[in-house]
Amino acid sequence: MGILSSEAIILRTYPLRETDKLVVAYTRKYGKVRGVARGSRRIRSRFSGRLEPLSWVELVAFEGRNQELVSIDKVELLKGYGLAMQDYQAYLRSSYLLELLMETVPEHEANDSLFRLLLHVLPLLGDSHDSRLASVYFQIWHLKLAGLLPSLAACSRCGAALGRSTGAWRRLEVLGLFCQECRQGAGHRVLGEVLELADQVVKKSLPDLARGKIASKTVSALNAVAEEMAQTGFERKFDSLSLLRQESGNR
Ligand SMILES: [Zn+2]
Repeated sequence: MGILSSEAIILRTYPLRETDKLVVAYTRKYGKVRGVARGSRRIRSRFSGRLEPLSWVELVAFEGRNQELVSIDKVELLKGYGLAMQDYQAYLRSSYLLELLMETVPEHEANDSLFRLLLHVLPLLGDSHDSRLASVYFQIWHLKLAGLLPSLAACSRCGAALGRSTGAWRRLEVLGLFCQECRQGAGHRVLGEVLELADQVVKKSLPDLARGKIASKTVSALNAVAEEMAQTGFERKFDSLSLLRQESGNR
């Protein structure tokens, strides 16, 4: 029987039997794992307050006969980021990040870069002001780490340079960006400053970006591009996005 010991981010829990919870966690060493936390639904449980989604924890678990489900033995809370209930938009952005991790990250596949990315964005994700920037940052880097981020600096058809002075066009359900000549009629305009922000996202740290004064409409516009790219790149429709769009009310 193997022992698993790793830092982890709690992604989701489900009630299981009368007193237990099924826990889905993204661990640093083993990737996404599912486990049972026995007794965790009891009021006085040793897991109490440590299994909230987005908690950063140190987790110890045992592999049993059922390879798919580990038995969670110990959970130490390193930091609880929690879902930001006080701000509905920040809450929806956190839910979207959790949905992305649940839906697009394969089980049992460790990825230290993705784990570090999570630790990088979580502190700003619950902040009502910075959550939109944190969400853009996570999506662009998640696409990049998955090898799905198209060039944001060159037309994906002819290779012409795209940047602040040119802007670009995008088409629904197509990953790349296009220059004016290659846009082929229909297409959504991506303004130069949005491309410039995308370029900064891949070059700067999130706290550095958050210190700069970026117009909120530029952040929203890049979020819209990143959300489309995530749905096209991962070939999924994300439920949290429709709620987020209703709430943002501007697209
Ligand atoms: Zn072109």
